[in-house]
Amino acid sequence: MLVDYHTHPLGHRGGRYTEELLEQYLAAAQEQRIEEVGLSDHDTYCQDIDFQLVAAVARRFPALKVKNGMEFDFRPDREQKIASISGRLPFDYLIGSVHEIGDWMFDHPDYQAVYSQWDINKLYRTYFSLVEDLARSGLFDIVGHFDLIKVFGYRPTGPVLPLAVPALQAIKKAGLTVEVNTRGGYKPCAEIYPAAELLQKCYELDIPVTLGSDAHEAEETGRDLAAARQLLYRIGYRRLSTFSRRQRIMQPL
Ligand SMILES: [Zn+2]
Ligand SMILES: [Zn+2]
Repeated sequence: MLVDYHTHPLGHRGGRYTEELLEQYLAAAQEQRIEEVGLSDHDTYCQDIDFQLVAAVARRFPALKVKNGMEFDFRPDREQKIASISGRLPFDYLIGSVHEIGDWMFDHPDYQAVYSQWDINKLYRTYFSLVEDLARSGLFDIVGHFDLIKVFGYRPTGPVLPLAVPALQAIKKAGLTVEVNTRGGYKPCAEIYPAAELLQKCYELDIPVTLGSDAHEAEETGRDLAAARQLLYRIGYRRLSTFSRRQRIMQPL
């Protein structure tokens, strides 16, 4: 089956959910033969999520299961805030993502110059140690775009796998799901997150997976997920994680 558990109806614009906006995302998911679509706006917009409107619009798409998610910006100093948001809203699942190292938003094109100040191997180790903290926090269900640090194409001098293994082991220990996020294919790194060699390691470690387009526009919903599903199948996966009220439900891939 196809699911898309990572979509941003509010993009980076914010504002309120409207019927028209939600309809666009759900119609796009249906067109892409998605069976479950999760809305996972950034947690900065947590005040603007209208769960009742989502449920009302979802009723017009009876063939589609619509899930309530959120993508949280993980930093160790935000753990309490994240827990307080996630505890008071009726989410099906939470994505935890590392977008910042200290106060550097390393995935933002405006701050790309900072890469030149880093030893890239050390940068990868620093990034993956934050992913380890994320896994150990126990706050999330899914790890967002596991190797986002490659976004602008800065690569370590050797293989990435040894740098990433401690984070994958923490993810395994915490029982988290890793998403295959197809947005990376449209960034300078030109590759899905995580890279196929890291997904292979996820499979060896028996880490469950799900699928997400990370759509910031309705027409990006479901983008490249059929190909991502085929890749998972080739690696050996036969099941996908889905979620309902923070409970993981494994379904046939
Ligand atoms: Zn993200
Ligand atoms: Zn996202």
